[in-house]
Amino acid sequence: MEKNKETAGKNIGSRDETIFSPRIRPIGVIKNEIEEPFLVAGNEGLDMQKSMEKVREEVRELDQRISTIIVDADWGDALKGIEAYSHLLVLYWAHKVNEQGRALKRVHPMGRKEIPEVGLFCTCSPARPNPVLACVVRLHERKGNILKVSGLDAIDGSPVVDIKPYVNSWYPREAVSMPEWMRRLMEEVDQYDRLKQNPRADFIEAIERRDLARCLIKTAEIHGHYCPGSALGVMASMHGLSLLYGLNRFDAAVTSSDGLENLMAIVEINACFADGVQAVSGCTLGNNALIYRDLGKHAVTLAIRGNDMGVRVCARPDFRETIGRLVPAFYPLMEKVIKNRVHTKEDEKRFKDTAREAAFALIKQDFENVFSAERVRVDLPGYAPIVDSIICQNCGEQLMATKAALNGICLTCAEKPYFQVEGRGIVSNTRRQA
Ligand SMILES: [Zn+2]
Ligand SMILES: [Zn+2]
Repeated sequence: MEKNKETAGKNIGSRDETIFSPRIRPIGVIKNEIEEPFLVAGNEGLDMQKSMEKVREEVRELDQRISTIIVDADWGDALKGIEAYSHLLVLYWAHKVNEQGRALKRVHPMGRKEIPEVGLFCTCSPARPNPVLACVVRLHERKGNILKVSGLDAIDGSPVVDIKPYVNSWYPREAVSMPEWMRRLMEEVDQYDRLKQNPRADFIEAIERRDLARCLIKTAEIHGHYCPGSALGVMASMHGLSLLYGLNRFDAAVTSSDGLENLMAIVEINACFADGVQAVSGCTLGNNALIYRDLGKHAVTLAIRGNDMGVRVCARPDFRETIGRLVPAFYPLMEKVIKNRVHTKEDEKRFKDTAREAAFALIKQDFENVFSAERVRVDLPGYAPIVDSIICQNCGEQLMATKAALNGICLTCAEKPYFQVEGRGIVSNTRRQA
C-alpha cells in the first residue's frame, strides 16, 4: 500500500501544488446578456435563483443566444484555423462562485430540494472546488481574436480558461446511462420545449396511443375531480375522433383542435361530460370550436369544417346501469352527497373515491357497451366573426359592438335581458326574476 502511494505521488505529482503555479491564467472573456447565474451556492447548498419555468426557457433559448468570446490579443494567434470547426469545447471559470461554494461536497441537483442530495461530482453544479465549467458550443464566426458562438451556458464576464475543437469521434457513441434523477431533469426540459411548440403535445400523444387513462387524468386537471361523467366525455371524444377520421392511427395535425375552428364539437349537456369533450377534442368554449346545444343528453357530435358529415356519439340509455354494476356504491353516495346535500365528511370522501373508481373502471369498457355512434349530417355555423368593439357610454367598459343595446350601451347598463349558461342550461337572466 505504502509503495503504491509513493508511486502515485511520483508519477503524476497529483499532490504537488507547485505545478499550479503559475496559476491558471484566463485567455479571454465571455460577453453576453446573462448577468446572473441561475444557481448560486449559499449556506444551504445550491439555491435556484429563478423559477424552473424561467430556467427551462433559458436552457431552450441557449441554442439561439449568441455569446461573444473575446480572446486576449496575446493569444489571438492561437485561434488560427479554428473557423474550420463547427463546434468547440469551451472551458471557463465560474467567477461568481464564492469560497463557501467551493467547499460543497453534496448538493441537491439544480438546487431542487425534492431531489435527494448527491455527490457534487455527480452533477454539473457550477459550485465546485475548482469551478471550471465546460460547454460544447456552435461556432458561427471568427473575426480576428473574437468568436461568435451559440449554446454557451455562461454568464457575462466569465473568464475563458481554454478552447478546444469538438470532434465527435472522441466521444462515446454507445448508449450512455445516467441516474434516474438526471434523466428526469433532462426530460423536464425537453417536455417544456415540446409543450412550447405544441401546447397539446401531451394530449395528442395520449390520444394517438389511445391512452384513455392519461386523457382522463389530464381532463381532471381542469375538471377538478374524477367522475364517470367526464370519463364518458373522454371516451366519446376519443372514439368519435377515431370514427371521424376513419383511421387506425390518428393524424397528429388534425387529432384535436388547434384553436382555428377546423375541428368542431357540438356537445349536448353542460355537465362533467362536457369537460371530457373539451379536453380531448381541444374544442372549447373559448376557442369557438365548441357549440353547446342545450338538450341535456350525454352526446357529442364531432365534425370537420368543409365536410358536411360528422359523427355523433351518444351514451346508451343503460349507461347508468353499467356504472352501477361497476361500482355499486357510486349512485347511492351521489344521491346523498350531490342530490340531497345531507352528508358527513366521510360520505364526501367515499363519494370521491367511488367516483374515481367508477371513472377508471368505465374507460376500460368496450365502447359499444356504453355508447352508440352514427354518421350524421351537420350544419355548422360560419367561423366566429371578428367584430368591432365599442365603449359603453355608461360604464366605460369595452364590449363587442354586436352585444350592445340599441342605444350603444352595454346590456347590463341598459338593464336588458341577456342569456347565460348555468347549471340549468341556457337561461335568460330575466327568467329568474319573473
Ligand atoms: Zn365531474
Ligand atoms: Zn355599461
